[in-house]
Parts: sequence; C-alpha cells; structure tokens
Amino acid sequence: METPGSQSSLHRANLERVVRAVRMAGSLTQAEIARSTGLSAATVSNIVRELKDGGTVEVTPTSAGGRRARSVSLSPEAGIVLGVDFGHTHLRVAVGNLAHQVLAEESEPLDVDASYVDGFGRAEALVERLIVTTGIDRKKVVGVGLGVPGPIDVESGTLGSTAILPGWTGINPSDELAARLGVPVYVDNDANLGALGEMVWGSGRGVRDLAYIKVASGVGSGLVIDGQIYRGPGGTAGEIGHITIDEAGPVCRCGNRGCLETFAAARYVLPLLRPSHGGDLTMERVVQLAREGDPGCRRVVGDVGRHVGSGVANLCNLLNPSRVVLGGDLAEAGELVLAPIRESVSRYAIPSAARQLSVLPGALGGRAEVLGALALVLNEMGDSTLLESALPASTPAFT
Ligand SMILES: [Zn+2]
Repeated sequence: METPGSQSSLHRANLERVVRAVRMAGSLTQAEIARSTGLSAATVSNIVRELKDGGTVEVTPTSAGGRRARSVSLSPEAGIVLGVDFGHTHLRVAVGNLAHQVLAEESEPLDVDASYVDGFGRAEALVERLIVTTGIDRKKVVGVGLGVPGPIDVESGTLGSTAILPGWTGINPSDELAARLGVPVYVDNDANLGALGEMVWGSGRGVRDLAYIKVASGVGSGLVIDGQIYRGPGGTAGEIGHITIDEAGPVCRCGNRGCLETFAAARYVLPLLRPSHGGDLTMERVVQLAREGDPGCRRVVGDVGRHVGSGVANLCNLLNPSRVVLGGDLAEAGELVLAPIRESVSRYAIPSAARQLSVLPGALGGRAEVLGALALVLNEMGDSTLLESALPASTPAFT
C-alpha cells in the first residue's frame, strides 16, 4: 500500500496528471503539458521519458511557434475505444485508439424505436464485424461509448423519457451493451456526444467552453464548460428546445406553449411548407431548396435561424461560451441559417457575453455523435490500466 503524501504516491499522482492531460487532448507538446498540469518542465520531461519507455506514450518531433518541440500522444497500441450511436433511424459504430485516431466507421439504417433487443443485437454484430475487419486485438478494448437519442437518468442509468423511445422503457442501455460485449460501457445522449465529437475532432477544437445545438426532429444542446460536459444533477441540462419564445405560441410536446422547438424543430416547421411544396418534404430537402434559391424555403430557414438565435442569446447571457456549433440537417444551410442566428445574438445578448462568441456549422455532420462516443470513453476512462501496464509496482520514484 502507498501512503498518501509519500514520494511514490506523489509520483503516481503526477503520472496520472500527465496521462490524463494527453488522453483528453490527443497530443500536446511538453510545454503544453506543463501548462495544463501545473508541473515543472523538468518533471514533465522525466515523466514523459518514463511513460515512453513503458510504451504508454509516443513522442514525435514537431514545431510550436517556429521552435522545435516534442509532441506527446498516447501510444496507438495502448488501447482501443469503440463508439456505438443509436439515432432514431440509424445505427453507427466507430473504432478508434487512444491516440485519437479513428480506425473504422460504419452505419446502417435501423428503426430504433421498434425493439431494443433487435437494436442491441444489430449493434453487437456490427461491432464484431469491425473488430474483424480492422484486425484489432479485442483484449485491448478499454471501453465503449454509447449514444442514445433521449435523456439518460443520471441515477438509474435508464432512459429518462419514455415518450421519446417507447420501445426502450425501463431498460438500462449501458448494462445491456456491457453484458453483450464484456467491456465497460459509458452512455450519454446524442446532444452531449455531438458536443464532445465536435470538441475533439470538429468545429470546437481548441475551445473549452462551447455549446453544440442540434436542430432536427427536436432541438437539443450539449454544453461543455471548462472542457467538461455539463449534465446537471438529473442529466437534463441543455434542454434549450424548451425555453419559452412565445407564451401564446403552439402547444409543445412537453406541455408548455411556444417553446423554441415549436418554432424550429422539423415536426413544426415542415407543415408550414407542405401546402406549397408537397407532402413528402424533409428538412434535408428544405435546406437543399433554400440553397438553390427557393424563396419559401429560404424564408423558413431564416426564421428558424432567428428563433434559434434568441435561444443562443439566452445561452450567452447565462454561460458566456466562446463557441456555438450548429449540428443537424440545418447546419448544411450555411450562412442562410448562421447569419440570422448571429443577428439575433447581436440583438438580444448582452454585448460583453456575445463579444467573443463564434457561431460555426458542425464539421462532422452525422458522424458527430459516434465520434463523440469515442471521445466519451477517452474522457471518462480511468488511467489505472494504462499506468499498470507502464509501471511495475517497484518503479522507483524519482520526481
Ligand atoms: Zn417544450
């Protein structure tokens, strides 16, 4: 047993700090590691050498600000992460490693609401197939990130709202998948995973305070505060779709009137266009027509942008994020939707809260959630396995 405060437990704590910093960021120079951990340059240098000798990290030459530097990342051999994302109409699986490299991805159509047994069976089969095609060693899988299209109750781990996925009532998705795959499973909702995916691989890179807003069949958001997803005690944080825009507006599925969702979500917006544009209209098609110059679709996309923008303005006043990333089909509309969002923000947000804000379209499209599932494992996994393999118990403390 290590005594708290002893040389060896201090050394181990320092190792953990370095591994955690690199694990979350993907790669960092030694100077960046020193800055983010608060350790001295000499200590970082010793620890990196030790981790490199143990095979936990790789060091490659790079340049930072015109000077030669050494970039540190976890070794691709150190572990494998899997991502499984259930959307309402698809299943997507990704395989990555601890060096933040995505090795394989595949998706297939799936009626998720129909049967969870069928859904998890298909997920297991797709994971098995990707393990075989990538030739990875399954013993190296350290965890699976799982995305579900509804809020997860933080305490019970079950789906919070039965109205959203009626076929999944009462089941615990992470237990279900862990039993099939035999590895730890970390679960979160699609909006939080979209935020993580964009932060690690997309439009939110390098930003520690951001909101990912997904406008699709509903309107949701994932909030990242100081580099961490903010979920709130019940796991419900980020329900931007249900802020009130008009107290006398249409009744929302949540029971209130005039929520943002009733002005922006596909189920409320498409009926506005169906009389003039036909009954089989989808949001994807509306965006395409708007880009081609169709005046009705442009009008609707612009109006959605204005309303989402007042939600973003409220968010700015409360949280002062430095970036908002727009996901979902609507992001494909580019400036047709982003300009009205920015306009509403400048009209309704306190200037100091909006000054440093940039509003960008998501860079990952429909991949944001499954890549976020990989990032969730990188975020939440512990470092003990990594350190155990790198460090024999007798390693002398020298920092
Ligand atoms: Zn509502």
